[in-house]
Amino acid sequence: MPDYSPVKEKFGAHCLFGASAADFTTYRAGGAAEVLVRPGSREELLWLVAWCRSNGAPLTVLGRGSNVLVSDKGLPGVTALTARLSKIEISANAVTTEVGVIWDDLARVSAENGLAGLEKTSGIPGSAGGAVRMNAGAFGQETFDRLARVEAFTPTGEIVSLEKKDIPHGYRRAEGLEGLILLSARFEFEKADPAVLLQDRSCVLAAREIAQPLQFPSAGSAFKRPPGDYASRLIDAAGLKGFKIGGAAVSDKHAGFIVNMGSATASDIYALMNEVRARVKANSGVDLELEQILLGEF
Ligand SMILES: Cc1cc2nc3c(=O)[nH]c(=O)nc-3n(C[C@H](O)[C@H](O)[C@H](O)COP(=O)(O)OP(=O)(O)OC[C@H]3O[C@@H](n4cnc5c(N)ncnc54)[C@H](O)[C@@H]3O)c2cc1C
Repeated sequence: MPDYSPVKEKFGAHCLFGASAADFTTYRAGGAAEVLVRPGSREELLWLVAWCRSNGAPLTVLGRGSNVLVSDKGLPGVTALTARLSKIEISANAVTTEVGVIWDDLARVSAENGLAGLEKTSGIPGSAGGAVRMNAGAFGQETFDRLARVEAFTPTGEIVSLEKKDIPHGYRRAEGLEGLILLSARFEFEKADPAVLLQDRSCVLAAREIAQPLQFPSAGSAFKRPPGDYASRLIDAAGLKGFKIGGAAVSDKHAGFIVNMGSATASDIYALMNEVRARVKANSGVDLELEQILLGEF
């Protein structure tokens, strides 16, 4: 096991040992990160990547932890949270963000500046880096619609700039970014009336309040939309609304969400995911694919 004292020396209060995933993921469940670091600049993130590489420490990079489930056994090695990488620059038709920017801030700022194309993704509770990595989207818009390019760090320590056309991606996936640590992203827009964009934003935020169980911890939709259907419809049709394992439940407000009722372990949530998949398969023959990412050992 590496000696993590150089990391502690470098990051001080921004380096914690044994921080619970309940404190850095929106599921509010799961085990501890062996070492949790919040780099304050890209230079610090790059230092950390290089340190992990030369010391053989596993590294997991997370934004807001809003699309992941961390095992109750925890996360070995270093977990880096990008929240402090939060610079954002707006120009006439583009926004460039560091990856830790809150996605909804980007959606709001672009709408306020009359930059159209991401206003319907308002309310997605991740970071810009997580949104790009997942090609997050909602109400017919997705991150890659407006993405122009990303800047990233390769596993061999190079900084690269990739154009969207060179990044294979699709619905809730960006396989062209696998293995890269994203540093910043540039989005380019059409111009539109800010009042109209802000109105669209308000409608979308209101629709989320109405449809989603936002009062309970979750990581959004647990499963991807299967072709020609909705995971939530299939789960509801299998009679699973409100179905519980331990402290985890299929939301009775939106069957696509698995929620933490307060005391869920990651094992409860994982067992519920599997049970939902099995029962939907038995009821409708559809294999649901997990949208959320499992981290650690399950
Ligand atoms: C209430 C709720 C509603 C949601 N609604 C939606 C929705 O409408 N549409 C939707 O698409 N999603 C939705 N989500 C899921 C989630 O918010 C998105 O997937 C979001 O984009 C994840 O961002 P994050 O920063 O939290 O990523 P994380 O969960 O922190 O990470 C997700 C993945 O991205 C990787 N990653 C993060 N940052 C970087 C980086 N800088 N470099 C490389 N890899 C990185 C992580 O390693 C991980 O593999 C919802 C979640 C919740 C809780």
